[in-house]
Amino acid sequence: MDKYQLDTLAVRAGIERSQFGEHSEALYLTSSFVFKSAAQAAERFAEREKGPIYSRFTNPTVNVFEQRLAALEGAECCIATASGMAAILAMTMGLLKGGDHVIVSQSVFGSTIQLFVNIFKKFGLESTFVSATDVSAWQKAVKPNTKLLFLETPSNPLTEISDIAAIAAIAHKAGALLAVDNCFCTPVLQKPLELGADIVIHSATKYLDGQGRVLGGAVLGRRDVIHAGVFGFLRTAGVTLSAFNAWVILKGLETLRIRLEAQSASALELARWLEKQTGIERVYYPGLPSHPQHALAMQQQKSGGGIVAFDVKGGKDGAWKVVDNTRLLSITANLGDTKTTITHPATTTHGRITPEARAAAGIRDGLLRVAVGLEALEDLKTDLARGLS
Ligand SMILES: *Cc1c(COP(=O)(O)O)cnc(C)c1O
Repeated sequence: MDKYQLDTLAVRAGIERSQFGEHSEALYLTSSFVFKSAAQAAERFAEREKGPIYSRFTNPTVNVFEQRLAALEGAECCIATASGMAAILAMTMGLLKGGDHVIVSQSVFGSTIQLFVNIFKKFGLESTFVSATDVSAWQKAVKPNTKLLFLETPSNPLTEISDIAAIAAIAHKAGALLAVDNCFCTPVLQKPLELGADIVIHSATKYLDGQGRVLGGAVLGRRDVIHAGVFGFLRTAGVTLSAFNAWVILKGLETLRIRLEAQSASALELARWLEKQTGIERVYYPGLPSHPQHALAMQQQKSGGGIVAFDVKGGKDGAWKVVDNTRLLSITANLGDTKTTITHPATTTHGRITPEARAAAGIRDGLLRVAVGLEALEDLKTDLARGLS
């Protein structure tokens, strides 16, 4: 399938039809698989014969999802996981050990920070948090035991852009790996592996499903880098993607490019419109020339993506007024859905960190994040204008 374009891969990669010749991908809801004989069972378990054994680590529907996402990202290998957090867990547990050091962007997803600070630390993994945008800070944080650099670009909610190629060079000089959480862009807008990253992480819960239905995740990269460690961890520890969720997300991938391009185009228009509204102090969107890393964003992404953040006048009260005056937008922390969502980060996703940490992260009390869906743009503007005025 390698010779085909992204649109073709998105609907056809990974299909392996059963004896019934079904056209749509089959959903294999079964925990285990039956062998013809004791000898065949032994061959399968010894990995001398290919084929499914048990759905904790070998399910044909999950495999189709893995192959399709691998084709879209240009990765040799993809390991599907139960959620985005399970993907980061499987990557770290599979590839690192106590005594290793990790450099993490301070602008990554909140639960990712908690995972490094509260969970991995208990097992002796040391983490240093640095600015997403200051390349020299990554270089300065390198230690002899640094094994992994981890970032997310654009970041949530401020859409900061990290220079993937420059940070990959720092990682490789240090003999470490670079992992990029490609949740916001997906392979439709950004291909971290082509820019030098070694590992791509996905929360399939977001744009890959794209319709807010199920949780899922994935770890992708070169086979020699991730297969033994990450698949080995998943096989034993069971952070497995369910076949049903794999099937739902697989169908989501078929429309990923069309959805993301439409959402990104709407987000750009909305960001331009927001910049002109009187109730707004600042708009954060990589597709706007006013964004501090606009040039870098346009170099490594095809467009700005579907997430727009903005500071409204009046701090928390002003922001809540906008949220509470919406009738259409969904007040929920999820993103990447066909339905537009609105979030007040300071009191929700970033509500549990200290006010000082929030201020250091640039999350102001008046900040709102909108994840643009597929509704008519005029309706979204009307819904936001009510509170802004
Ligand atoms: C949501 C999210 C995650 C976690 O994914 P889950 O599927 O919710 O576990 C990780 N990274 C980013 C950037 C996210 O937005």
